[in-house]
Amino acid sequence: MIDNIPKNVLEVNSISKDFLNVKAVNNISFNVEQGDIFAFLGPNGAGKTTTLRILLDIIKADSGKIQWNLNGKSNQLPEASHIGYLPEERGLYLDIPILKSLIYLASIRGMDKKDAKKSALEWLEKIDLADRANEKLQVLSKGNQQKIQFVASILHQPTFLILDEPFSGLDPLNQEIFIDFIKEINNQGTTILLSAHQMPLVEKIAKKVFLINNGMELYNGSLSSIYQTFGKKHIIELQFESDVNEFTLRNLSGIESVNIIDDFRVKLTFEQLTDMKSVLNQLVKVEGISDITSYKPDLHEIFLQLIKNA
Ligand code: ATP
Repeated sequence: MIDNIPKNVLEVNSISKDFLNVKAVNNISFNVEQGDIFAFLGPNGAGKTTTLRILLDIIKADSGKIQWNLNGKSNQLPEASHIGYLPEERGLYLDIPILKSLIYLASIRGMDKKDAKKSALEWLEKIDLADRANEKLQVLSKGNQQKIQFVASILHQPTFLILDEPFSGLDPLNQEIFIDFIKEINNQGTTILLSAHQMPLVEKIAKKVFLINNGMELYNGSLSSIYQTFGKKHIIELQFESDVNEFTLRNLSGIESVNIIDDFRVKLTFEQLTDMKSVLNQLVKVEGISDITSYKPDLHEIFLQLIKNA
């Protein structure tokens, strides 16, 4: 019989962690299934890095339970060879040639040195740094060091990859390239848990999201269901021929918020249950509109809405 039940490769139950008087992680639970791209999203100080460090036993939780189920073994701690980790505070050897460092790191995680060299050279080619293979890491730019650190986390082909803020320090082009790498590695079967605050980037790849604020869960579930549940509002951007008449807009039926963008543009958010027909019937009566754009809330807007309602 084929087992269609998704397999949890990580189960986290009610973990908490305090630092002095800060509740860095406050009673959170989640499961990561095999093949997931699971994104931890939240602002600075939300508790993302603390959670990831607890999972890897770099710091201990005050309470709660963690179970890893990787490569047929169930444990509180995974084997190093099964895990790839890109830490927030990047920590490669700065004064050792890049290729040598990559081969060494893959080999201590169980990879044959010949295979590690072959794979490292392929990845250096992919990230456009093949010609720097014998230079020391310290002479590379910050973004290029970040790319090398990423390669170091995946070279030994981990079953489960943890990326803490993978997009920080990268320019927009390299952020897009990283998005493609993450998708590629996931398609090859690696489960991915990442933390980030760049929601538009995460929206492109995540299958599940965990929204966290002040150490607490705001939402935990699939990306598609968050849009279905919270993304039904109508958001309308209006352009006016002359100054915006804010008073008229604030009195529209079903209006939730009016945000003035500049003298001639305004963003209207309607309450969840307001239908589009009613919105349009009202807008035809508003004078001076020269353009109208309608869109649905993105993840960032849903996040703000959830914080407001928390
Ligand atoms: P960022 O996006 O800025 O990296 P984060 O979501 O990863 O933020 P954490 O680094 O987990 O957040 O921090 C959560 C809270 O715990 C913050 O208030 C932080 O100041 C506090 N904190 C984290 N580590 C320590 C520590 N070692 N000692 C004291 N407080 C800490």
